[in-house]
Amino acid sequence: MLKRKVAVVTGSTSGIGKGIAERLAAAGCDIVLNGFGEEAKIEAQRQAVEAEFGVRCRYAPSDVTNPEQVETMIAEANDDLGSVDILVNNAGIQFTSSIQDFPLDKWNAVIATNLSAAFFTTKAVLPQMYARNWGRIINIASAHGLVASAEKAAYVAAKHGIVGLTKVTALESAKTGVTCNAICPGWVLTPLVRAQIEKRAESKGTSVEEESQALLSEKQPSGEFVTAHQLGELAVFLCSDAASQMRGHALSVDGGWTAQ
Ligand code: NAD
Repeated sequence: MLKRKVAVVTGSTSGIGKGIAERLAAAGCDIVLNGFGEEAKIEAQRQAVEAEFGVRCRYAPSDVTNPEQVETMIAEANDDLGSVDILVNNAGIQFTSSIQDFPLDKWNAVIATNLSAAFFTTKAVLPQMYARNWGRIINIASAHGLVASAEKAAYVAAKHGIVGLTKVTALESAKTGVTCNAICPGWVLTPLVRAQIEKRAESKGTSVEEESQALLSEKQPSGEFVTAHQLGELAVFLCSDAASQMRGHALSVDGGWTAQ
């Protein structure tokens, strides 16, 4: 369906980004993986995407909080695979603390990774998308882009911010073949969430299984984790012609979290 479209997925060496990159590859996209991690593991992931889905797959080690490195990632994707058709802004980090104790460097890092990076990448790809009058920009926000939780000031601010950036991008591109939407997942069991569960289990003296269930029952009425595969399938749909008039939405996939 998306044969030979070129998709850049930031933060795709792990978790949700990895799942989205795989579903886009399954739909026929050539892929640029991005994110941190062990070189050998990432190379194995890159080769596995090529072998399993029969597409071209490259890896860009760019730090998306650095605008120059973002420019380089997009320029290399253009040279190597062709003009970028699909951008998924997924790279993200978390830090939890009350506001009065929130370290300034952690605030800056969360805002840079979860919000400013999406501005840098969007700015870098829009000219070529406009020139070809086709493009899809998908921002991975969060249930925390729509509602808040205590001790997540920077994350909630960044995720509300990216929902706003999604709307502005959608309005500026409204008369073109470029669309921009956000996906707002609830809990997905990735390393980012596992770290929070382990921190809770350690501080309360409970098990990881007990804290997983506690986390779900606090926020997610379905009592089940969302999967990266499900989010990837939604991203593929947003890239289809059927979704060409979906513009500026924040789409929840959260087991009922924000219905409450
Ligand atoms: P993860 O920790 O498994 O993966 C994060 C990815 O981002 C990794 O590949 C990491 O290397 C990359 N990354 C981090 N900083 C980067 C930087 N400066 N430059 C380039 N890459 C960078 O996390 P995840 O749970 O898969 O989260 C992915 C996205 O989904 C994040 O934006 C997160 O906020 C969002 N999200 C996650 C959940 C959840 O429950 N896991 C829920 C809602 C939203």
